[in-house]
Amino acid sequence: MDNKLLISLTQKYGSPLYVYDTSKIESQYQRILNAFSKVKKLKINYAVKANSNINILKFFKKINSGIDTVSIQEVLLGIEAGFSPESIIFTPNGVSLSEIEEAAKLGVQINIDNLSVLEQFGHHYPNIPVCVRINPHIMAGGNRKISVGHINSKFGISIHQIPHIKRVVENTGMKINGVHMHTGSDILDIDVFLAATEILFNTALEFQDLEFIDFGSGFKVPYKEGDISTNIEELGAKLSTRFLEFCKEYGKELTLVFEPGKFLVSEAGVFLTHVNVVKHTPSNVFASVDSGLNHLIRPMLYDAYHHIHNISNPSGRERYYEVVGYICETDTFGSNRRISEISEGDILCFNNAGAYCFSMSSNYNSRFKPAEVLIHNGKDYLIRKQETFNDLLKNQELVDL
Ligand SMILES: *Cc1c(COP(=O)(O)O)cnc(C)c1O
Repeated sequence: MDNKLLISLTQKYGSPLYVYDTSKIESQYQRILNAFSKVKKLKINYAVKANSNINILKFFKKINSGIDTVSIQEVLLGIEAGFSPESIIFTPNGVSLSEIEEAAKLGVQINIDNLSVLEQFGHHYPNIPVCVRINPHIMAGGNRKISVGHINSKFGISIHQIPHIKRVVENTGMKINGVHMHTGSDILDIDVFLAATEILFNTALEFQDLEFIDFGSGFKVPYKEGDISTNIEELGAKLSTRFLEFCKEYGKELTLVFEPGKFLVSEAGVFLTHVNVVKHTPSNVFASVDSGLNHLIRPMLYDAYHHIHNISNPSGRERYYEVVGYICETDTFGSNRRISEISEGDILCFNNAGAYCFSMSSNYNSRFKPAEVLIHNGKDYLIRKQETFNDLLKNQELVDL
């Protein structure tokens, strides 16, 4: 997205501001389709939690994606956006049976990640086929906080408990129509991922009524120049061949499913902030912006790196800065960053702000959540207004004390 355009958007809609570009979402979606073009039955389910603005969901509907949801509210948002229940998969962790029942009654594909709920669900609804989430006990990525397929993880049913799953299936008469894994968000090594898929293929052979195999996600995107990212083309070439071979072995053409979030929307978004203060201290130069961890928590939550550049002075002399937020606790967006010289009033642009940014935002420090703008076919659309003071009070009951 062009610097001049972004600056004009902050003048039009204010700051801070999230801006998303549908053309980048579409090209990332297309990359997966191309990488797996040999597989006839391919389904991509966008992981709603990455960015759940209803207009983003509607765009995914338009390009024929399905969605992956982790709460009943995400299911309802998907239905509101126009998705048919069959194009929604519900993959929650640790939710009550009643929440799963609610989703099942809407007709969405259920994915169960523990034996307790599997048994109860099978007992009550033997005629509704479900998918099971398997934990392959593989450490797929570097970042522990976002790796979910390893032995200590709370996600999925252990690969060692397949006999128990089979016993539940036999006892209840339920059908398993899919097997699923999701190893986390940081796949660096394709061969480790492929090792996990072999575990899932072996699991699949244990169930006779499968319609699909869901390999989850975890595709890594680049955050800075020279960053390693998942080579989706290489993964596509290798896994497609292996998948088709497996289908022959299984005796049926299954659907291959992925549920990426970050890969599809991360790079499609930027976050724009206005520099309030440039402060020189004995050890540093701080650039304080009109936002904080309330709007973009990833750097503070899991040391995520967001490239920050000064779009008001893109070719200025580069200096070192601590870019910080206005929240009253340590609130660092970027430390020791080389950025072209910053003046008060400049607009700083944060890259990779399409995934897990707005969707993790809060009202901490009683700040408003920012506005969101979508660029589509060369036009900009306000897709969420900035909150107002009334929003802060909306659900609070005033009591006479
Ligand atoms: C979060 C999540 C995803 C998406 O992960 P990304 O790293 O954003 O691609 C997919 N599947 C499940 C079950 C998830 O919880």
